Amino acid sequence: MWVDSHCHLAAAEFDGDRTEVLERASADGVDTFIAIGSGYGIRSNNRAVELAASDPRVFATVGVHPHEAGELNDELRGWLNPLLDHPRVVAVGECGLDYHYMKSDRAVQRSVFAEQVATARERSLPVTIHVRGDEPNAYEELLDIWRSEGGGDLAGVLHCYTGTLEFAKRAMDSGFFVSFSGILTFKNDRGLRDVAKEIPLDRLMVETDAPLLAPEGFRGKRNEPSRVSVVGRVLADVLDEPIAEVARITSANARALFRLDEAAPVE
Ligand SMILES: [Zn+2]
Ligand SMILES: [Zn+2]
Repeated sequence: MWVDSHCHLAAAEFDGDRTEVLERASADGVDTFIAIGSGYGIRSNNRAVELAASDPRVFATVGVHPHEAGELNDELRGWLNPLLDHPRVVAVGECGLDYHYMKSDRAVQRSVFAEQVATARERSLPVTIHVRGDEPNAYEELLDIWRSEGGGDLAGVLHCYTGTLEFAKRAMDSGFFVSFSGILTFKNDRGLRDVAKEIPLDRLMVETDAPLLAPEGFRGKRNEPSRVSVVGRVLADVLDEPIAEVARITSANARALFRLDEAAPVE
């Protein structure tokens, strides 16, 4: 069975057929979903939490996406904090730095990311991280903030990894897992499969980032969590490992990072 370690299951794109989407995932061996609260407007974080509160297969994260960093204010902070207390919330995020789209000012992105790393440390929660663009600056600044605000004992995952092997190694030394999305399956993967090949099994995860990033064969369509199995098959091929083993290990890694076995059951 697979864990989709990063999907936007609460996004409006799934409002019409979420039940069927989850059934298709289950038919493809995907039984656990990390529903990311951020990325579709700060005010929609509660949707992921509500989903997790009502479905035992779903766990939620709460955070502020770098695209939305410029919108954060004290009123929203006051609204987000109680959500982080919810017993089905297993991580802070997705948060980080995005200097590719640059939808928020760099300095604001840095301070909002630092604030969330500090929140994760205070609450002993792991962090799901988005980093993109302007290599090496976004990546180096991200790691600097992680080290200064995280205090050395935080764990996290670099979601939808597209960076270099050299950076991945340093990030793993700082407590990160590395998660691959449908980009790994693209015909033009820009060398990503060569990076994935070198990541130790005990640091790997798979994800869809649905509804975005549909894998090869489905590009241009709405992505959905069932297709984490497509990413997993390609990863197994790259690693030259049996699919069942890659499913087992990536799922165990997600369960360990997000401490799913300790999360409160659905009431
Ligand atoms: Zn992201
Ligand atoms: Zn995402």
